[in-house]
Amino acid sequence: MKTPAQSFLPFRSAYLLPIIFSFILAGSMQSWAQAPAPDSPGIEAKAHAMVAKLSLEQKIELLGGVDGMFTHASPAIDLPRFKMSDASVGVRTWGPTTAYAGGVALAAAWDPKLARKIGEGLGKDARARNVNFLLGPGVNIARTPVSGRNFEYLSEDPFLNSSLVVPFIEGVQSQGVIATVKHYALNNQEYNRHNVDVTVDERTMREIYLPAFEAAVSKGHVDAVMNSYDLINGSHATQNEFLNLKVLKGDWGFQGILMSDWDATYDSVAAANNGLDLEMPGPRFMNAKGLLAAVKDGTVKESTIDDKLVRIFRAVLRYGFLDRPQFDPADSTYSVADRAVALDGALESLTLLKNEGNTLPLDAAKIKTIAIIGPNAWPAVTGGGGSSEAQAFEPVSTLTGIANLLGPDVRALYARGLPEVGDLYQHTHWDGAIQVATFPSIDFTGTPQTASPEYIFDWNSNGWEPEAKEKHSIRYTANYKAAKAGKYLILAGAGGWNNDQYTLTVDGKQIPLPPHAEGQAPQATTLDLNADQTINIVVDYLPQGATPHFSLGVASEVDLVSDEARKIAAVADVVIVAVGFNPSTESEGLDRSFGLPWGQDALIEAVAAANPHTIVTLNAGGGVDTRRWLGKVPAVLDAWYPGQEGGTAIAAVLFGKHNPEGKLPVSFDRSWDENPSAAIYYPIKGADTSLHVLEPDHSPVDYVIPHVKYDDGLMVGYRYWSTTGKHPLYPFGFGLSYTTFSFSNLQVQATAASGSSVPVSFDVTNTGTMAGAEVAQLYISDPSAKADRPERELKGFEKVRLAPGETKHLTLTLDARAFSYWDSAAHKWTIDPGKFVVRVGDSSESTPLHADLTINWR
Ligand code: BGC
Repeated sequence: MKTPAQSFLPFRSAYLLPIIFSFILAGSMQSWAQAPAPDSPGIEAKAHAMVAKLSLEQKIELLGGVDGMFTHASPAIDLPRFKMSDASVGVRTWGPTTAYAGGVALAAAWDPKLARKIGEGLGKDARARNVNFLLGPGVNIARTPVSGRNFEYLSEDPFLNSSLVVPFIEGVQSQGVIATVKHYALNNQEYNRHNVDVTVDERTMREIYLPAFEAAVSKGHVDAVMNSYDLINGSHATQNEFLNLKVLKGDWGFQGILMSDWDATYDSVAAANNGLDLEMPGPRFMNAKGLLAAVKDGTVKESTIDDKLVRIFRAVLRYGFLDRPQFDPADSTYSVADRAVALDGALESLTLLKNEGNTLPLDAAKIKTIAIIGPNAWPAVTGGGGSSEAQAFEPVSTLTGIANLLGPDVRALYARGLPEVGDLYQHTHWDGAIQVATFPSIDFTGTPQTASPEYIFDWNSNGWEPEAKEKHSIRYTANYKAAKAGKYLILAGAGGWNNDQYTLTVDGKQIPLPPHAEGQAPQATTLDLNADQTINIVVDYLPQGATPHFSLGVASEVDLVSDEARKIAAVADVVIVAVGFNPSTESEGLDRSFGLPWGQDALIEAVAAANPHTIVTLNAGGGVDTRRWLGKVPAVLDAWYPGQEGGTAIAAVLFGKHNPEGKLPVSFDRSWDENPSAAIYYPIKGADTSLHVLEPDHSPVDYVIPHVKYDDGLMVGYRYWSTTGKHPLYPFGFGLSYTTFSFSNLQVQATAASGSSVPVSFDVTNTGTMAGAEVAQLYISDPSAKADRPERELKGFEKVRLAPGETKHLTLTLDARAFSYWDSAAHKWTIDPGKFVVRVGDSSESTPLHADLTINWR
């Protein structure tokens, strides 16, 4: 097995040899991989015959899942139940697995071949667990960096997403496993994800938010689609006529299964009539109670129910699920071949953002002592949190990856650098007694019960509580005295995933905190305090779960950073500070902050002050606020969430064993405010600070539905930056290398002949001294369009590997869609004949080659 990266870097073979050897052995074992058969009259007839054998009650029973992760069985037709598992970055359930550089990391690799390999790996991992449906990939657009699930999705660009989702799905499905593209659609924030109603125009949907789903269906032939939680233009995804019937099953001709996200169904008849085929995880709405009478009185046609079953049976028959075991012993859950794929993914995705004075690569021969510091140094952070979390067999941390590479002759010193969150809460030195008043009401009225604990730390490691029968409101009052002047961190954490709400007031003034409707990632704010200044903190807390869980702490930023960290930084030849998010701070169910998690800015500053040779490595699903420290460190490596082999890959890049080749799949904003969606991102302005009182018997449907207006329209990411002529911190498509590349010799027809394919060719040369990979990116501008169009749009790319001095001639092909925009009045893709500009380069802002092109056809 020769991976692209191995083909030009001999050293890689050395540390991959044992893996490759085992793969060859494993390869000799017969695999039962079976790609789905195409649909045929025979399969259609069989599917209909199966339906014909069922009573209406038996049919309805098949419309809902069972036991969390299975379809329903039907003994009447010898139909077993079929198993599902989450998997955007690794097969989540049923034991440890291979954790890949998936989602945003995969997008940073800009490599469809890698997407195929990861898809195949996931398919095999699924077969090894008897899994029939893989609940991935996720392809929602990264509209904003704070959306909590961007890390498991791909990028901000519909073309890049489409180019990766197709081979990914083909890879999964080639193994005889149904891929499920999700979350259809417009689920671009985790904040209040069950309740937000996205108001968005059709053109924005068609051009930005739907293309990856369209490609998954039309080109990837995905056999399952998962609806999202949110509402789109007033109607929940699971009952959205426009998205499900008009677009998915109508325009795109989707013949597969449309399933709900888990508990994303809200109405039996509306879901049944508007395209939902399978309610997961169980039939809360699509059940006999909700549908039997409706079918009998004609509100829901029986043929509508039959169509849903035909879709399920068609897939089951095409995949041969009734004729062969899904469990394939050749595909072990522990796979050395997959480890190689995971390593390739990590190596391809690491993105070098800053490298002042060629700080990197480091020369191992010149290093006697290295310090590896930070909460993300160890243990390995392979992915973010939530349903994509995969338990890797042997994840390699940044610390162990570097130590492994350097060997016993180099001292690798380690310090976490910051306290664990619980320590901060428990060791806050409050000034005087804390008062906790628990009121028998939801509005802080009535006679409270009072208590005076030593600290405020009531954590819920499980994250979820059953709903409280009787609601309370709780007021915490405490004073804090600053021992010295400086920045102080206030850290607060509420709940479980129960929509707990609170406000934080300091000396009578409410402090805005980033909103987290669900989840308990601590929220942080910093205040400048004078020496001996005493502040009064009041928190008004509304727990929704049966047991309240609230934590509060204050610490001086200077004291946060441990002495050990400062000392080892000072004695080391070079320091790696590993910072960023982890599964509890960047996760499904909550939006993350744009700033790094609490204390990390201070940690980088302190370490950089102790040692100027400080390199930052970052785990995040997108851009973060670098303003406090970027100017103080010479090098920054964005590691995204690199999967289980991340530490090995990070070490290889830092020490020049691998030339970094990742390119940003998202624009990197300087501040959250300058993101084009920031001002309109959260549904209710000020929602972050207002207490939202839920009635005890609320249900998701009568909960106040907040609107999010996608007034940013097409201006997502680099479309916004290029159209406004402003510049982000780092542009989409950007990533440094240890070598240099040049682009030349652009050839495009001046007038493109009528037809569906326009070739664009050019040369890419490695002008430096090290082998490396470049991603050639092709952007189109349409200056004569009748409609407003973004200044540039990605319409082609190719990753090319070049030895020093080598030139390759590339040809990318543009099809009619590349020149089209969605005509809102005519409701169709349209080309305005006239002038187009073709640009080629290595980022959305660096396109040294350009040429005009005239199109005379529609
Ligand atoms: C997530 C889905 C996931 C499902 C099953 C939901 O909470 O949104 O992405 O597939 O759970 O775990």
